[in-house]
Amino acid sequence: MKQKHQQELEKEPFYNIKDEEFGEEVKLKIDESSFKGGVPFKCHGKNSILIDKRVSFNDFEFTYPAWQCSKCKKEFLDFEQAKRYEKFLIMKRSLEQNLITIERNMNFDGKTFFFRFPKELTNNLSKKDLVDIKLLTPDGRMFLVEIKHGKNER
Ligand SMILES: [Zn+2]
Repeated sequence: MKQKHQQELEKEPFYNIKDEEFGEEVKLKIDESSFKGGVPFKCHGKNSILIDKRVSFNDFEFTYPAWQCSKCKKEFLDFEQAKRYEKFLIMKRSLEQNLITIERNMNFDGKTFFFRFPKELTNNLSKKDLVDIKLLTPDGRMFLVEIKHGKNER
């Protein structure tokens, strides 16, 4: 299932999201010209400046780049930045344990360990998809798994 945020990104290039997570409004605006990233947003007739935003939650600190107007201090995120920020929100939710959790039995075929995805979650998957696995702890027991569209898709 797609995040609401993601759906908005796809259908509406200009949007603001309210950040309920922090109880304050964070202005996130997607500008069509900056959709690909790397291009400064224009505000008050000037190019905005690239800044590093820092947010923290418990001991978990996260920085993400954003564009800021030097006059009104409004912040803008381009597509790549918004995706990065969204990852922070996902991590935050996972720390708060507000995520849907699925427990699976580990399988072993004599050579390889594997687990099966629940059927209900696989409608959206394709054999061409790529599984991006990020190791989160050095003991190899915690991962962030993201299923990305394969090269010839989308
Ligand atoms: Zn401005």
